[in-house]
Amino acid sequence: MKKNIMKKAVVVIMALSLVFSLAACGSGKSAEPSNIIIKNATVHTVDEENPEAEAIVIEDGIIQYAGDEEGVSEYENDDSKVIDMDGGTVLPSMVDSHMHPAQSAISYCFEIGLQEVFTKEDYIQAVADFVKENPDREVYTGSGFMRSAFDTIGPRKEDLDKAEADKPVILTSADGHSVWVNSKALELSGITKDTEDPEGGIIQRDPETGEPAGLLQESAANLVADLNPEYTKDEYKEAIAWLQGWLNERGITTIYDAMIPIDNENYYMAYQEMAEAGELTVRVRGAWHLAPEMGDEEELLALVDQGMKLSEAFSTDYFQVNAFKFFADQVLEEDTAYMSAPYGTSRDNWTGLKVWDDEILETLFTKIDKAGYQIHVHQIGDEAAAYILDVMENVRAVNGDNGNRHTFAHVQFIKDEDIQRMAALDINAIIAPYWIAMDDYYWDLYVPSVGKERADSMYPQKSLLDAGINVGVHSDFFVTEPEWGWLMYSAVTRTLPQKIFDLWYEGMDGYVRTTDPNFQAEGDEYVIGPLKPYDEAVTLDEIAKAATYGGAYSLYLDEEIGTIEVGKKADLVLMDRNVFDVDIEDVAEATPIATIFDGKLVFEADKEK
Ligand SMILES: [Zn+2]
Repeated sequence: MKKNIMKKAVVVIMALSLVFSLAACGSGKSAEPSNIIIKNATVHTVDEENPEAEAIVIEDGIIQYAGDEEGVSEYENDDSKVIDMDGGTVLPSMVDSHMHPAQSAISYCFEIGLQEVFTKEDYIQAVADFVKENPDREVYTGSGFMRSAFDTIGPRKEDLDKAEADKPVILTSADGHSVWVNSKALELSGITKDTEDPEGGIIQRDPETGEPAGLLQESAANLVADLNPEYTKDEYKEAIAWLQGWLNERGITTIYDAMIPIDNENYYMAYQEMAEAGELTVRVRGAWHLAPEMGDEEELLALVDQGMKLSEAFSTDYFQVNAFKFFADQVLEEDTAYMSAPYGTSRDNWTGLKVWDDEILETLFTKIDKAGYQIHVHQIGDEAAAYILDVMENVRAVNGDNGNRHTFAHVQFIKDEDIQRMAALDINAIIAPYWIAMDDYYWDLYVPSVGKERADSMYPQKSLLDAGINVGVHSDFFVTEPEWGWLMYSAVTRTLPQKIFDLWYEGMDGYVRTTDPNFQAEGDEYVIGPLKPYDEAVTLDEIAKAATYGGAYSLYLDEEIGTIEVGKKADLVLMDRNVFDVDIEDVAEATPIATIFDGKLVFEADKEK
């Protein structure tokens, strides 16, 4: 997990989706139309041969026609469903190429959500309320508390004991890198004064007594992992069913689960059974997660075999796992991204965490690449990119070019020379334009950590494109809640849209927003403005292509989806305006009015509203 969405965004967007869902439920169901005809549209096909159209015909799940208005007449009959776009844009629906869908959906549906509250007292109250409403749980889990609400030692077990003392409580922080536990959780896990910090983790301790204080950071969170509740397959299905409707409302119909746990059958079988039953309204692709702590080389190779064997059974178009996921490093927020030069803060000459040993990685990559599976790498620091590229070059030398499209996700920092190496190895770059801005993460965490010059080199989206790399987009949901308007706006302007600024910073002292690239900060103002350098901005065409074709290509789906072409599957988003012909500030407000998946309307906003 990287950066957490700010709290208010969740509340407001969730409230909106409820309105849409209810409206859709109330609109009633009619018989299946013989075909769907979309007219009076500004169709942005992302197909270079035929870039624009006015009308589309969809039949049997397939795009039968994309062209001028006159051409649709021969398809139209009494049973056609005709949608008049009033000039609005139609695009291929969004491919979100890296998120945590099932995991996040479970958390939204069944766990204690601390996303709407901000103080210690409110966190305790939220836990107490949840316990009261759910008295039968054996363990209470939740997420979303802000580390910034506490001192370095972090939140204390005693505070959580006030909410629940008899059963374990485990709360994950908003950034996903630490957990807050109560005394019972520590006791049941056998964590005492004498327990040593595990490798790569810290047990925060009371400075006077040396007793565990209540916060377990990074790998120390694994010490309480056995207490985490196991969710049933039906619970996963319920959560996924909720999430896919929510994604459809956002014009998203293909997603990538970046961390499928190989040891959690309920998790992956929920997807698989829904796929087989035709219940999914999103195409799901994903990766089996491998980590060094899962075993030695032999054990990891066995896990690769196990993953491949399971993958063979997932043969529908709706759910496939064709990849393995590796963390190259961690995150800049915790000074754990692996950087080529030392951080300016904390420990002397600290350059962050290198997660894998090169040799073991080369063995695993060679096997995975040879078998035709994709390698999906979490990459934040520039040195993380460099060592992974070294390993991948060695793998290429041994296996040759077998047409695999491996992937770097996030790509926060990378050297120019390594961008060229990525291009030479046909590695996809999956980026999150939502994160491109001078925001409080930039001012509070990035600049102090690595200095302004390096912070300003973040997210070189245009350089990646110019090098000929296939670029796709991602939200890392639950880190960010994906949406078209924000995505396009931030990719083009390199700052936050007004609506996100309002949601995050409204009522907070000293925050000002500007879109002026030449702004000067005054006094202690927090300027939320465009991230430099501005020549890393991309065009609307470029970001639209990345969000559709780029994502499809990265998931080997470019023959089926990602453009609007006759013969391709009809996965489309219908927008409420012509995003290519409005003021850029209005682009941020663009909202889907309908979403089509596999030729079927899976979301339609109530037109009366
Ligand atoms: Zn992720």
